Amino acid sequence: MKNALILLAGGTGKRLGSKEPKQFLKIGNTNLIEYFLTNLESEIFDIIIITIRNKDRKTYLKSIKKRFNNHNIRFATAGETRQISSRNSLQVLKKYNPKNVLIHDSARPLATNFLIKRIIKTLSNNTSCIPFVTYNDLIKTKNIINLKNNKIMNIQTPQGFNFRNIYKAHELFKNTEEKDDSTILENNGTKLKMINGEITNIKITKKEDLKYFNRLKIREYRAGIGYDIHKIDFSSKKKLKLCGIKIDHPPLLGHSDADVGYHAVCDSILGALSMNDIGYIFKNNDKRWKNANSQIFVKYCSEKLIEKAYKIVNLDINFICETPNINKLSILMKKNLSKLLKISIKNISIKATTNEKIGFIGKGEAIAAESIIQIVNE
Ligand code: ZN
Repeated sequence: MKNALILLAGGTGKRLGSKEPKQFLKIGNTNLIEYFLTNLESEIFDIIIITIRNKDRKTYLKSIKKRFNNHNIRFATAGETRQISSRNSLQVLKKYNPKNVLIHDSARPLATNFLIKRIIKTLSNNTSCIPFVTYNDLIKTKNIINLKNNKIMNIQTPQGFNFRNIYKAHELFKNTEEKDDSTILENNGTKLKMINGEITNIKITKKEDLKYFNRLKIREYRAGIGYDIHKIDFSSKKKLKLCGIKIDHPPLLGHSDADVGYHAVCDSILGALSMNDIGYIFKNNDKRWKNANSQIFVKYCSEKLIEKAYKIVNLDINFICETPNINKLSILMKKNLSKLLKISIKNISIKATTNEKIGFIGKGEAIAAESIIQIVNE
């Protein structure tokens, strides 16, 4: 085994003033650990040890394992101090005997894959690799400028080590109480290899740090397209339904309520999430969906967005039909969508075009709808 990661998540987060440890605090739809693991390339580490307190295990262990099954995740028990937590994790790792280990604080979720790969590369010629940053601000103590700011090294994590070296150092210096692992290795007489870290790799300690985190985090925009068409059923006495609005007009033919607008919206959401289409999820031979209200499908898609930590930026729907007049109805349709998708009306557009009397839509035999959506991770 080559590369292992220890993710220390045993903190209590007292300084943030919340009951929940900061690493598990939801910011949008994702907590700090989830954010880090979502953005971590799964090819980098052969194994990841997440170190958490016993009392947090029940609450978080299952969901982390399930959500991040693209990583090989194991758990270790956090101790009273950071040093004990590190040592416990190294002991769990011992049987896997990795060549390198990177030890990372879960309070630094913004460490990039680029930094992690640089640390691993540096370890091919060095027994340690510690990232640091310097700041350009003047440094004063009691009004006397006595420090040259570019000499101050602000130490970051992840810190990389040859596994055997750091394991041995931790065993030798069991009784110290160091704030990081590099100091333990230094205590053992090893000269550290220092590299430039990343200014954006901030440590989230105080409440205001969460604001910086929100500003600095990576945003992934995705787009999705959906199209649907249904035939008009002139023999039916029922009413037409478009985006949940009942209209005095012959209805559409379909297994469910044939709401072509909602169906197109669903497919655009599922497309943006790289999922199967609506017909795959809600099969048209399944009795449960016979005459079903299509808002069920929209609600399902909305829940998928939340589950995958995305929110809608905007939604643009286009109806293609000769009748009815969509413009008059669009505000009511927007209200329905706004409620179901929990987005502001100003982010929804509903337009319509006729088919210029051409083809079956032009002859008034069918109604089609297309939808384009943009989503962003939270
Ligand atoms: Zn449909």
